[in-house]
Amino acid sequence: MNYVLKSIVVFMALSLGITTATAHKEQAKHKDDGKAKVKTKGKAKVKAKKARKTKKAKAVPARVLFEKMTKAADVPAQAFGSYAKGCFAGGQQLAKNGPAWQVMRLSRNRNWGTPRIISYIEKFAKDAKAKDGWPGLLIGDMSQPRGGPVSGHASHQVGLDTDIWLRPSPARQLSLTERESLNSISVLTKNRKKINPDTWKPEHLKLYRRAVSYKEVGLIFVNPVIKQRLCKDAGKDRKWLRKVRPWRGHYSHFHVRLTCAKGDKQCKNQPKMAAGDGCGADLAKWFKPKKKKKKGFKFKFVPKKEMTLAGLPRACRRVLKQ
Ligand SMILES: [Zn+2]
Repeated sequence: MNYVLKSIVVFMALSLGITTATAHKEQAKHKDDGKAKVKTKGKAKVKAKKARKTKKAKAVPARVLFEKMTKAADVPAQAFGSYAKGCFAGGQQLAKNGPAWQVMRLSRNRNWGTPRIISYIEKFAKDAKAKDGWPGLLIGDMSQPRGGPVSGHASHQVGLDTDIWLRPSPARQLSLTERESLNSISVLTKNRKKINPDTWKPEHLKLYRRAVSYKEVGLIFVNPVIKQRLCKDAGKDRKWLRKVRPWRGHYSHFHVRLTCAKGDKQCKNQPKMAAGDGCGADLAKWFKPKKKKKKGFKFKFVPKKEMTLAGLPRACRRVLKQ
């Protein structure tokens, strides 16, 4: 009897031992499975991170790509997109010296545009010299050889914009160094609230009026204080003032914007200007006192994301390859 009991006890103990061992093994296996799963998950995460990094690297700012273009796309002239989101092909370079102009900051290589703006500058410069006594234009930034986003400007992208300095050209030809170092003049006082009587000349009004006198001009941007002065001094002839649009800055240069050429189907025009001379309520808005910021308000600087090729018209990819 004792022997039988002993055998049963031994058998049970053995079974229990085996069961526990199997359970341990099973547990270990599950543990290994878990570890493997964690490993695969980790690998996937690393892979996704890598993919994100590559995508980020691919999203090079379009500005960088267009800055590399040193020559125009040698095809018929065409503008693609809008003034602040576009590019152009078939551009031309404005000669650095003309009978009535000189190009400034030549190192930037921004004296390019569609043939329309080249012929506009040539015509305007000659007329201003011959008819208004303006000794010559100093040309600031136009566009890069194929346009596209450009540092320091929101627009100037489709070869239809140019900045013109308010400083008259000297009678002599400027050296390359002078063109880099010489600055324009401001026609406003230091606080930019009034016209500076020392730098503002009656010829400035004539220059603005001449600038918008051509039908290809859509508008020009001038400082609101300057527009106010032009409104005051224009007299009875006020039609031209419609194309003079107030905008911040623009006190040492003005910005000319041409309309899209007829038939240039992918060029997006600026919305039409409101009727009238723009000397009323539209201008008054610029002089309204600014609302005081709430107490405790902290300005948080959020850097603007640079535009990539994906933000430009598809045609701009082709323009870069041409
Ligand atoms: Zn400009």
